[in-house]
Amino acid sequence: MSVIALLNLDVHFSAALRLSKGVAKGLHGGDVTLGEGALTSSAPHLPASLRRFIEVVPKAELHVHVEGALEPELMLALAARNGLPPPYPSVEAARAAYHFTDLQSFLDLYYFGCSVLRTQLDFYDLAMSYFRRAAADRVVHAEVFFDPQTHLANGLDWSVFMPGLARAAEDAAVELGLSAAYIMCFRKEMSAASANDTLSGALPWLGRGRIIGVGLDSSELGNPPAKFAQVFERAGRLGLQRVAHAGEEGPPEYVWEALRVLHVRRVDHGVHSLEDAALMAALNASRVPLTVCPLSNLKLKVYEGQLEKRLTQLVGSGLVITVNSDDAAYFGGYAVANYNYLAQVTGMGVTQVARLAANSFEASFFVGPGSGGEARRTALLGQVAALAARALEEEEKQETAEKRRWRR
Ligand SMILES: [Zn+2]
Repeated sequence: MSVIALLNLDVHFSAALRLSKGVAKGLHGGDVTLGEGALTSSAPHLPASLRRFIEVVPKAELHVHVEGALEPELMLALAARNGLPPPYPSVEAARAAYHFTDLQSFLDLYYFGCSVLRTQLDFYDLAMSYFRRAAADRVVHAEVFFDPQTHLANGLDWSVFMPGLARAAEDAAVELGLSAAYIMCFRKEMSAASANDTLSGALPWLGRGRIIGVGLDSSELGNPPAKFAQVFERAGRLGLQRVAHAGEEGPPEYVWEALRVLHVRRVDHGVHSLEDAALMAALNASRVPLTVCPLSNLKLKVYEGQLEKRLTQLVGSGLVITVNSDDAAYFGGYAVANYNYLAQVTGMGVTQVARLAANSFEASFFVGPGSGGEARRTALLGQVAALAARALEEEEKQETAEKRRWRR
């Protein structure tokens, strides 16, 4: 490396340091250290201008489970408020337990954590905790998953969890300018009959609960999507949107099934689609989005050893890829941390990040009360384009100024 290149590197590094100090005081509640210890949400290896763009560009989150936003602090506070034994002796002990070997090892802890949720206020506090963190990352629209079967199995009724979630969505719009709706997920390891009963239980809440769709989550292997053909068909007749987790740990065939049998409008995760060229072509032709969750994949060891390569392939595939946090409290980061990680491992710049942010709005349903509909989608796409143009202009100015400085 030449002396000039080294000096240039130093200029970039100083600027990065200055910005990261500003960021620590502002948008983020502190660094989030990832499992491997090499990367952090403050992303010191990214150019300062790119980090700034990732922070300010408006985004939608389309793959986030409200129960996955249960931070250890809140988990312990809710246990104490409800007179329950603490699930962990301390916040540190909870975080230390969050080391997963695969999806199932995570799910076991996740459902354990949900047992502290007992009252309407608990669900309100949980959802508001997510909305506040999301808004700090410039998430302006969220279509949020929840797991009714988990709460029903814990002895709660719809009249406990649904009003708390619905009120939080209303308050998020007023207090944070974040529009939110809910997608109820059926757990794949549970029976089709249970999913059907759950849909029946949801009927009185479809409008007032801000429920806009159905999804499938939880244990994937051995539970192909076709198991839920009937309940998804019924949901379609009710006018609900349909999405499904598929191809996270499972094979491309599960993604095909979700498309052909469940008629989903989005595939959640779907990273294993990469192994089937015909499937990738079909996803590209239909523009069915994949809601990708980079830090979740990292923590759950999806494509372990080749995740960076796989994520790079997805970002470059031309498919409608969106970036999401999945279960942020367990996986070490919210929206910005996921974009930062993805930018670090794929080397993408402002143009690609802007494409992903625009994808998030193109893939949003924007239906239901307070969503703003097509007009809001158009306005947000315009904001992304304007911010990207300004960021690229600033990058160019900075490059020109640096070149002049070194020519002197
Ligand atoms: Zn998920």
